Amino acid sequence: MAEVVLRDVSKIYADGTHAVRGLDLSIADGEFLVLVGPSGCGKTTALRMVAGLEEITSGEIRIGGRVVNDVPPRDRDVAMVFQSYALYPHLSVRENIAFGLRLRKLPKDEINRKVQEAAKILGLEEYLDRKPRNLSGGQRQRVAMGRAIVRKPQVFLMDEPLSNLDAKLRVQMRAEIARIQRRLGVTTIYVTHDQTEAMTLGDRVAVMKKGELQQVDAPQVLYDYP
Ligand code: ADP
Ligand code: ADP
Repeated sequence: MAEVVLRDVSKIYADGTHAVRGLDLSIADGEFLVLVGPSGCGKTTALRMVAGLEEITSGEIRIGGRVVNDVPPRDRDVAMVFQSYALYPHLSVRENIAFGLRLRKLPKDEINRKVQEAAKILGLEEYLDRKPRNLSGGQRQRVAMGRAIVRKPQVFLMDEPLSNLDAKLRVQMRAEIARIQRRLGVTTIYVTHDQTEAMTLGDRVAVMKKGELQQVDAPQVLYDYP
């Protein structure tokens, strides 16, 4: 677990697009922060900068007290889940979840143990030998989450992870994500344009508009529900 701090972070893309402007945001150890706002407001850019997938133009990002501006994604101890599951179609669920651990050349029995553990948390134990094409959308999303949690990252970054699911499954998976995050106690930044997701998932909700942070508050305060 780790605190994530953004200080005056800006992003100007090569074509001059000013995607993020002077973002100041602290996410506490173990907190679930939802980053919400309309399409194009800079949410994904902000998340990708925390992940190290996008260079920051100015400002500073700290993870667990360490400035990570120049630290490559692999050394940031963050795991990201995208809306497209990015599973390897030719690999089984087990192999998909194990992929990152294999790259790190962990011993086989340790990999097996970690995969079992992740599969248990995600309810995937029965599906470990299936290929992604033989899974439902919700199960695929679970495998994508399995790949992220198996590494026990300090920080969990999710970019619209439920947007490819139908409405019913989305509600179900939302509850799953909340449960898993609480169980792991991992610092989480969750990007969505969906206010219901923001309201139900976030310890706090950060609202962005045109690259700027508008407001950060507990959902009860922000959405004024009793
Ligand atoms: P959101 O996630 O809120 O939809 P994004 O962070 O994806 O917003 O995009 C913020 C702004 O940056 C948008 O105007 C988008 O078109 C622009 N943008 C995103 N990626 C790039 C890129 N690689 N090059 C230039 N502009 C980009
Ligand atoms: P790690 O968990 O170590 O970050 P991943 O399993 O996410 O590793 O991915 C390992 C490498 O494979 C990364 O460089 C990533 O960009 C790439 N990768 C991930 N998913 C896919 C995919 N579906 N197709 C091609 N390359 C991928």
